[in-house]
Amino acid sequence: MSRTKALLSTLAVLAASLVGVTAASTLVAAPAHADECYSWSRTLSSGATGDDVAQLQVRVAGWAGYGVNMAIDGSYGPQTVTAVRNFQAAYGLGADGVAGAQTYAKIYELQDADCTPAHFSYAEVDGGCGQGGYSGGSVSEATVKENLKRAMWRAEALRQRMGNVPLTVTSGFRSQACDRQVGGSGTGQHTYGTAIDLVGASFCGLAQNARYNGFGGIFGPGYPGHDDHVHVDVRAGRSWSAPSCGVSRNAPERAVIEP
Ligand SMILES: [Zn+2]
Repeated sequence: MSRTKALLSTLAVLAASLVGVTAASTLVAAPAHADECYSWSRTLSSGATGDDVAQLQVRVAGWAGYGVNMAIDGSYGPQTVTAVRNFQAAYGLGADGVAGAQTYAKIYELQDADCTPAHFSYAEVDGGCGQGGYSGGSVSEATVKENLKRAMWRAEALRQRMGNVPLTVTSGFRSQACDRQVGGSGTGQHTYGTAIDLVGASFCGLAQNARYNGFGGIFGPGYPGHDDHVHVDVRAGRSWSAPSCGVSRNAPERAVIEP
């Protein structure tokens, strides 16, 4: 929570206490919330459609279940119900798959003013090779930033799933020139802003757990060049390889080894 948000919350409580019970019941009926990033104005549940659903999906996509890389399509279908239910359970809320005041309050707590999740930031995923910024990639800067945001929310879910363990990004967006400079193809996932490389927990723990958090791409120990970090990305489909950890595209789901 930012300082501004904390202040607004304090003022809201103060205002409610000054005007008494009548105002308090009004707050329950229509929870007003000022969030610098995005605020929802209605309860969302199965069947709902709209941009507010898409905004919700970005933030819960890391909770849709094993191997599920859910679409951010603005349509509240079964995957969104599951993702919201798992998100609620992960944060100790009543798990009903309906996004209402409690769910939004948790999201407001987790999201920063620039819409990134609490434990990841644009500063740590912007252009590599010392370039900074979001230009020179395979898509527009705006698309790069949106993709990075989606990847970071799933990384936030992964972090929470692993017991709120601090994770560090060692590489995020790369321009095509930077990608070639570090030995990549020049058009890989990092040039789209869809990929981040992580350290901070056991690499097998990261690769195994990431299968549950909406990552279409996972590369870790045993895959060439990935013994010192785990690469995750939000590509469509499934491309998983961490042979040293039993992680592959077609391997059956099995119990996760805790980090
Ligand atoms: Zn990578």
